[in-house]
Amino acid sequence: MPLTQYTENPRYLRLHEADNVAVIVNDGGVAAGTVFGDGLRVCDSIPQAHKVALRAIGEGEAVLRYGQVIGTARRAIPEGGWVQESDLVMPTPPALDALPRCTEVPPDAPPLEGYTFEGYRNADGSVGTRNLLGITTTVQCVAGVLDHAVQRIRDEILPRYPNVDGVIALSHDFGCGVAFDTPDVQIPIRTVRNLARNPNLGGQALVIGLGCEMLQPAQVIAEQGSGLQLQDPWLYRLQDAQHGFAEMIERIMALAERRLAELDRRRRETCPASALVLGMQCGGSDAFSGITANPALGFASDLLVRAGATVMFSEVTEVRDAAHLLTARAKDEEVAEALIREMDWYDRYLERGHSDRSANPSPGNKAGGLSNIVEKTLGATVKSGHSAISGVIGPGERAERKGLLFCATPAGDFVCGTLQLAAGMNLHVFTTGRGTPYGLAMVPVVKVSTRTELARRWPDLIDVDAGRIASGESNVEEVGWELFRFYLDVASGCKKTWTEVHRIHNSLALFNPAPLT
Ligand code: CA
Repeated sequence: MPLTQYTENPRYLRLHEADNVAVIVNDGGVAAGTVFGDGLRVCDSIPQAHKVALRAIGEGEAVLRYGQVIGTARRAIPEGGWVQESDLVMPTPPALDALPRCTEVPPDAPPLEGYTFEGYRNADGSVGTRNLLGITTTVQCVAGVLDHAVQRIRDEILPRYPNVDGVIALSHDFGCGVAFDTPDVQIPIRTVRNLARNPNLGGQALVIGLGCEMLQPAQVIAEQGSGLQLQDPWLYRLQDAQHGFAEMIERIMALAERRLAELDRRRRETCPASALVLGMQCGGSDAFSGITANPALGFASDLLVRAGATVMFSEVTEVRDAAHLLTARAKDEEVAEALIREMDWYDRYLERGHSDRSANPSPGNKAGGLSNIVEKTLGATVKSGHSAISGVIGPGERAERKGLLFCATPAGDFVCGTLQLAAGMNLHVFTTGRGTPYGLAMVPVVKVSTRTELARRWPDLIDVDAGRIASGESNVEEVGWELFRFYLDVASGCKKTWTEVHRIHNSLALFNPAPLT
């Protein structure tokens, strides 16, 4: 990516030589009348991360960032003017029936050999980065009892099993009043099933059911080869209790203790970096996301792909406007077709809800300088790096191949994170510009800030500061390598992320596009 950068104050960043706008780098923005090193004079006061016109842009003229059209000018914008959301008319999204397919498939980069991490090998061939007891559920009705039991397991039993990292409840709001005759209901069902198969649960997940729910334990676990089983001592239904709450807690604790004893015998072994399944996501994005953090993720993603690992990027609405760039990178016709199928499904899903992609970006994204979804998309897509796209995972499905995969999910942080967990993610990386304390219980979450100012304010939440790329202190390649090495250290358990240190665990959030009865 060509990068024009002025390191003396004031500074702006231009990403592509064709761009007629650039992003203000300085903390606190720049005042009207400020003159840049190249002579450009600012005619409005412009906040940090917002866009300045590098030359006069006529009404109806294309506004270019990343070398791509992010909109056309609604009014004439003078050189040095602030280019705001209201100044741009959004381009129409690329039509799905006319996308280029496999026209720019990047050649395979040379393999990256010799990189390993210490992980927990599972019977199904997957590798855990943590050793956790997971207790899954068939219905929300059991969540309160389970939470009580989990707290007691943590306090009273877990300390006797020091090789186990924790006990987590896989609670969700699904299971009761489910309309089973709709095709979309398979999405939440397979999500619940595949969550219990996450590599960090070691094939030892317990199931707690109520008894009368629509979603029966057999539907949660019944897949062949999952390593999970249905009979006692793996399953308990609360309606089987003869002696009330006390019996429920006692039974759950007894089941948990048997599984903890098994899990405690596990030890880390040296595993190739190819066993990593990284889920990438962004949340609370700003105009720096696409300049600093996401390109660094993209660089590290390419390294992981070269090492044979699985890397997922997601968030359909945040790549929809770059669909033409993705289908061109699809490894083969089947992958291109799958990309189009998932985006088409999502277009229709939004239509059904009388919504469209303009519901994204959020007010915070806009305050952070992102004018519209097209601009946000171009910045978000950068985290997929430059590798060929070798597969597509539908929502709730499990990743079954290596390389760079598109995991089709909504952009909402918890829903996306939950679906990536179901896909088998054993490590998560999350970029943020506005800042979010987001964390998950099942995997370590590496938080990357897009701006140094955020990393300074939140030193005990941000693991890696990619803002150094904007200040000129570092560059995409250096931060990319730093991330790659950090991933391996965190996967090995020899480094902990801040979300682990503070135990910041957001709830699982199922994606359920199906009706409830
Ligand atoms: Ca997100």
